[in-house]
Amino acid sequence: MTLPIFLIGARGCGKTTVGQALAQAQGCQFVDTDSWLQDTAQQTIADIVEKEGWDGFRARETAALEAVTAPSQVVATGGGIILSDYNRRFMRENGTVVYLCAPVNVLAGRLEAFPEEGQRPTLTGKPISEEVSEVLASRDALYREAAHYVVNAAQPPAQVVAEIKAALQLACA
Ligand code: ADP
Ligand code: MG
Repeated sequence: MTLPIFLIGARGCGKTTVGQALAQAQGCQFVDTDSWLQDTAQQTIADIVEKEGWDGFRARETAALEAVTAPSQVVATGGGIILSDYNRRFMRENGTVVYLCAPVNVLAGRLEAFPEEGQRPTLTGKPISEEVSEVLASRDALYREAAHYVVNAAQPPAQVVAEIKAALQLACA
């Protein structure tokens, strides 16, 4: 039985992209907490935040995290999942947590090149690079605290996957 793998990191670090590739490489299932939440609630995250506020969204996010956690799952999480002490502890205790770490310029470049389709309201209403910089500054320590492994997510997806596989093999050795 393989423990679930939780991918954490800022918006644009590649949790969804790398998670899908990792799941395929490992013969695991892939699930994205944001997609799961939206499918289950039949609403977009933007709608949920508008109706229920960020607190309402965060409560649903914790429920989603618990619901999708199962053996042999690769779980891509939302960027703010680590804000909750409970979520950080839950992931560490129930699986292997990997932080996809990339610098601000890389994250901002990806978000500018591929704006999300209105899924997430901006967190601060500021320009992308400024927002990414502020969000990363406030969350980097929490990502590191939650993570069993930190990988370089500025590399091409295949290399990120290879780095994660190497870390997981070390864990099983
Ligand atoms: P997240 O789920 O962490 O928000 P995504 O996987 O949705 O990030 O990736 C955001 C954007 O960046 C997508 O357009 C994706 O194609 C691109 N991307 C993700 N990972 C990489 C990578 N390692 N190298 C280059 N582009 C990437
Ligand atoms: Mg994603």
